[in-house]
Amino acid sequence: MSKMMIYADHAATTAMSSVAYEAMLPWLQNKYGNPSTLYSFAREPRKAVASARETIAACIGARPEEIYFTSGGTEADNWALIGTAFWEPDRCGHIITSSIEHHAILHTCDFLKRIGYDIDLLPVNQHGLILAETLEKHLRGETLLVSIMLANNEIGTIEPIKELAEIAHRHGSLFHTDAVQAVGHIPIDVKDLGIDMLSASAHKFNGPKGIGFLYVRDGVMIEPLLHGGAQEGGRRAGTENVAGIVGMATAFQEHIEHLEQETTYVQNLADLLLKGLRNTGLDFIVNGDDNRIPGSLSLSFRDADGEMLLHRLDLMGTAVATGSACDSKSTALSHVIRAIGVPDAYAHGTIRITLGMDNSIEQVSVLVEQISRILDNR
Ligand code: PLP
Repeated sequence: MSKMMIYADHAATTAMSSVAYEAMLPWLQNKYGNPSTLYSFAREPRKAVASARETIAACIGARPEEIYFTSGGTEADNWALIGTAFWEPDRCGHIITSSIEHHAILHTCDFLKRIGYDIDLLPVNQHGLILAETLEKHLRGETLLVSIMLANNEIGTIEPIKELAEIAHRHGSLFHTDAVQAVGHIPIDVKDLGIDMLSASAHKFNGPKGIGFLYVRDGVMIEPLLHGGAQEGGRRAGTENVAGIVGMATAFQEHIEHLEQETTYVQNLADLLLKGLRNTGLDFIVNGDDNRIPGSLSLSFRDADGEMLLHRLDLMGTAVATGSACDSKSTALSHVIRAIGVPDAYAHGTIRITLGMDNSIEQVSVLVEQISRILDNR
């Protein structure tokens, strides 16, 4: 009998939805026209891109003209930050972000710092929350932009974005949110949140890899990152990834239609996992705020080695993460675990389990059994 493969790393990436996959095929094969060309063969792909833009806009309460397709979350984050900074080149301003952002934000800030921008990384509390008063204290007249993630990729904490955006605006600054871990998993309405920009990535919600979008509120000016053709209203050059765009819109729509069921299902799995682990008597901490992405668990086991745990689970056919996927080669403590101040005795024993619709109750019990077997036999 082949061993059961348990994929429990949905925050790293997800399987393509078969509906999205089917929706993509025509645009990869017989309907391959370039949407920017003038002949009638391009009409259908052009319409498909327009319709995907409408679908995506409707899923987040935006207008279609406010959605710009990108190559994924990393590009959307880079564009939001660099595009805002470069819009006023004479003004080497101040940018605020948090100490627990994804490296797509943190390393972009490192770059901006190298060329003269002033960057502030806000501390978080032990749940990974950015407090309103912390932001308030750091805002200045020359703050161009505040960029705070909607949900953290390691601990799942959902930030109080509406409140933070309101504070940023009161001080005359723009507000961007990296919503890569949140889009498709919790309800999002950009107008209600009152934000200026939002980044998303399709492969986190069962869409294809290498496609995402940046929401830019009507009237917000940012400098293009990619120069060339007149695609995306002249703001992001490059022939459109038609199949990717269609796949992303299809996957997003599917998630929105089943959001409640999905939330209940993965939350129940996460609860069962926690209950099962608690019954084993293992000593561990659950990181992050109670208000976090459904199905997302960052667990720190006392006197354990998270990386050893990951590899032992891997040998048993189970995929989990230690920190974020992009961090997985580094053995150092993740910046998020450090920022929330997990006690030393637990910090190195951290793993991230992110459950999805393709996980079952049976898999959850097997996972509990595997973890307890590994940690009991150290
Ligand atoms: N931002 C966050 C919070 C993420 O979790 C990720 C991916 O893990 C990214 C940005 C980068 O997105 P992409 O993989 O589409 O470049």
